[in-house]
Amino acid sequence: MIQTEDMEFAPRIITPENTTEDSDVEISLRPQTLHEYIGQEKVKENLAIYIEAAKRRSEPLDHVLLYGPPGLGKTTLSSIIAHELGVNLRVTTGPAIEKPGDLVSLLTSLSDNDVLFIDEIHRLSRAVEEILYPALEDRVIDIIIGKGPSARSIRMDLKPFTLIGATTRAGQLSAPLRDRFGVIQRLELYTKEQLTDIVRRSSMILGIPCTSDGAAEIAGRARGTPRIANRLLKRVRDFADVMGNGQITQEIASIALSRLDIDNLGLDGLDRRMLEMIIKGYGGGPVGLETLASAINEESVTLEDICEPFLMQLGFLGRTPRGRVATRLAYEHLGITPPEQQTAPPDDGQMSF
Ligand code: ADP
Repeated sequence: MIQTEDMEFAPRIITPENTTEDSDVEISLRPQTLHEYIGQEKVKENLAIYIEAAKRRSEPLDHVLLYGPPGLGKTTLSSIIAHELGVNLRVTTGPAIEKPGDLVSLLTSLSDNDVLFIDEIHRLSRAVEEILYPALEDRVIDIIIGKGPSARSIRMDLKPFTLIGATTRAGQLSAPLRDRFGVIQRLELYTKEQLTDIVRRSSMILGIPCTSDGAAEIAGRARGTPRIANRLLKRVRDFADVMGNGQITQEIASIALSRLDIDNLGLDGLDRRMLEMIIKGYGGGPVGLETLASAINEESVTLEDICEPFLMQLGFLGRTPRGRVATRLAYEHLGITPPEQQTAPPDDGQMSF
């Protein structure tokens, strides 16, 4: 559904989370090898070495934690790792593993050196996490049989395996779990050039004619996120089919994206409401996240996980110990005259980006 008005209540086209609309196409667009995976050079270089070393020793790869905002390619990378290792991949999510027994059956079904991918690993329950500790460290699980005084614990050996955990919030992972990952890699937002390559690659796979300028226009508004770039490509294609001859040009992309309420830097209505509230409602800040979220009637996790990384990357938002502040660049982008004192940092100078 495309809605250009009343976006407040429409699902955000630029939400980086996976939606049902994405699923069909995402599978065909997923790169299969590290070589095909665009960007994240440091992460790729490191993983290539660890994968090669594990293969030479015929051992499982060390457990890997991938963290960063949604839609940056964590799931894709885990399937590439399994593919490069030549092993099977099992995919699940933290909330789907409800009971310790669910995890036990997953772990015992793995073959030698398989990869188990757990998305949203910060959402595992404490009881499930406790099964995971000895599994990760010593490749064993302790199962309790029976109840009450006659209950006894038996220890089961597991086959060698690799856990790949993905999370948007590394800070919420318990320290004992975090410590059991040998490889911890952070995925960064993509540059406009990298996203242009991703849009061009996707348009070729999907058979959508797209000029270089058209791809760059979409990339420039995809807030550093491949999933959003791919989704915008599909939406812009609709405009190209109806308004033009099917080819995505810079002009068509620009008109289409503006109609979708996405401005020239990729901000949508929610980003702008957030910045405007800081500026007009709280004199530019600092304002606490919870206060801000309730003032614009939005969930604080949405602001924190989705709006903030991008607005901070643009240099529009600062996080200080006393709350969020809008920077001079944000005033300028919204066409609001900054107050004089905005030239100095708005609090005690301890901006923590
Ligand atoms: P996450 O697990 O971090 O939410 P995904 O791995 O599901 O993100 O990636 C979302 C989509 O973005 C994938 O379908 C894939 O097509 C695309 N994608 C992600 N990273 C890349 C990349 N580095 N190169 C090309 N396409 C990518």
